[in-house]
Amino acid sequence: MTTNGLQVAIDGPASAGKSTVAKLVAKRFGYVYCDTGAMYRSVTLAALRENVAMDDTAAIIKIAQEIHISFEAGDPEQRVFINDQEVTKAIRSNEVAANVSAVAAIPEVRQEMVKEQRQIAAQGGIVMDGRDIGTTVLPNASVKIFLVASAHERARRRFEENQAKGIATTTIEELQKAIELRDQKDSTRKVSPLTKAADAVEIDSTHLSIDEVVDEISKIIEKKRNN
Ligand code: C5P
Repeated sequence: MTTNGLQVAIDGPASAGKSTVAKLVAKRFGYVYCDTGAMYRSVTLAALRENVAMDDTAAIIKIAQEIHISFEAGDPEQRVFINDQEVTKAIRSNEVAANVSAVAAIPEVRQEMVKEQRQIAAQGGIVMDGRDIGTTVLPNASVKIFLVASAHERARRRFEENQAKGIATTTIEELQKAIELRDQKDSTRKVSPLTKAADAVEIDSTHLSIDEVVDEISKIIEKKRNN
């Protein structure tokens, strides 16, 4: 444990509510929140904007090496910037979602992102969400959560979220298909696939409210802090 607080890793499939609960847990403990999915989404958006073909691996790696991604606190969500240009909303587009798994499967892209993520987490007092945080990025994290929910419930939540944010959206059924496809790609890729770390606590949020999930994770953190 560092003097500044614990490292808390929250992994799980797409739209399981990771970022929502991670942000609230971070707030409760005064920790920093880091959304690693936003980093892979930013690389994907930059590649799309530069008209890079999604199979041009060399060009995508170059973007990952040169890109400067930063976060700023914001309400209701953290703001994301690529080289000082705000991309908070743009990285949530369907086009980015459809291409991000391919970009995130490139080993050299992961290497760059993981390096930055470890730097961000080095001081402790961090809640980091993603797919490989407990297994690869922070294997020594004191608290590891694997957050799941049924695919239908995840699609339903994403649909409502998109509507609330004014993001153009498809039907719940189509969203569910896209989510399942992304899960499948993320779980079967060669490098750091989405898997539950052996020492992670699995929480199924299908029938839980956001507050209930936050309370459950907070209890686990409290217990570790008092050890
Ligand atoms: O969390 P979010 O759904 O925004 O992540 C977008 C995509 O980024 C995931 O589907 C996955 O392909 C990739 N990702 C990853 N490793 C992480 C976080 C996200 O591969 N730690």
